[in-house]
Amino acid sequence: MPYKDKNKAREYQRIYQISWRKKNPELSRKISVKHYKKNGNKYQKLWQSKNREKNAFSSREYAKNNPLKWKVGMITRLNWEKDKNCGICKSTKRLGHHHWRYRLPVQRKDFSTLCSECHGIQHSKRRFE
Ligand SMILES: [Zn+2]
Repeated sequence: MPYKDKNKAREYQRIYQISWRKKNPELSRKISVKHYKKNGNKYQKLWQSKNREKNAFSSREYAKNNPLKWKVGMITRLNWEKDKNCGICKSTKRLGHHHWRYRLPVQRKDFSTLCSECHGIQHSKRRFE
């Protein structure tokens, strides 16, 4: 380790990681997906417990910033029951609707039921594409 100062070392590591990810987007995506599969729930719970107010605030912000998405999500929840298990891994825990496309009127093929892990992966995939 070239730095004795721990914070400095961490900062250096972070910068190095960002530049590495820019250079290796495909590999970086694979690592993220793997990491999320393993730690996603843990991070989400931790973040939620620390940011209760922010959480409520961000859902209001979301409705304001994404009126179509918000409306489509609402219509889906009101009109369709979730499937009994995840469409990808068949898990029965923490299921939600995942929208492949947002449009009105909402059609059944526009969304599927995914567990929070697979849902997170679908969104992290999109971010790197
Ligand atoms: Zn799943």
